[in-house]
Amino acid sequence: MELYRLMQQQGFGSRKECRKLVEHGLVELDGAVVDDYRLEIDPAAIDELVIDGEPWEILMLPLYILLHKPAGYETSHKPMHNPSVFTLLPWQFSQLGIAAVGRLDVDTTGLLLLTTDGQFVHALTSPKKHVPKCYEVTLKHPVSEALVKHLKAGVFLKDDNEKVVADQVEVVDEITIRMTITQGKYHQVKRMIAAAGNRVQELHRVALGTLQLGELDEGEWRHLDAAELAELG
Ligand code: URA
Repeated sequence: MELYRLMQQQGFGSRKECRKLVEHGLVELDGAVVDDYRLEIDPAAIDELVIDGEPWEILMLPLYILLHKPAGYETSHKPMHNPSVFTLLPWQFSQLGIAAVGRLDVDTTGLLLLTTDGQFVHALTSPKKHVPKCYEVTLKHPVSEALVKHLKAGVFLKDDNEKVVADQVEVVDEITIRMTITQGKYHQVKRMIAAAGNRVQELHRVALGTLQLGELDEGEWRHLDAAELAELG
């Protein structure tokens, strides 16, 4: 494979942009600056690739990324009032067409899955698939038995003539519940809690399908491993 093709695949831009990076002496392969953008290379045999001063780990595509979303970031490539979640990832990922698997509100934290695999997005967000999403919800008013019953029995959301239900509700403490839903309607958790007579103070997603947020710190991301991917599929 020619070097510029690998660079293109890794999100470093057009053929011309990749050629310029090489011609400006900004690409190093295994410790030596490269001057031929069409150099034949074997990506599997490269030990170290440095582009524009940054060591670059060659990405296996498509990308499947788990991000711990902090509050204050919009799940959008064109954010309105806050930075985009995509700014928390290497900029090349956006060049590769990365998209979020569903959205989290700007003030929601927790598990956000991102991928360059459009079919994967579709499979996990399709209403027919009923993929469970588990949220830890901090409430304004103390949890009551009536609230739990109401959420499990289902509530009507405005402009919707079908009830939405919480598949599971677990009481964590006086003002916290863990709630699992299988649809993905706009502001669904907040609207369900409001319809059941309480209010969401904080919302944090802990799981999506079989995938758990785990120990990842806020703002950090990692690649899914093969086992996680197989389980989700
Ligand atoms: N439900 C909400 O209300 N907000 C989210 O961000 C996710 C689910």
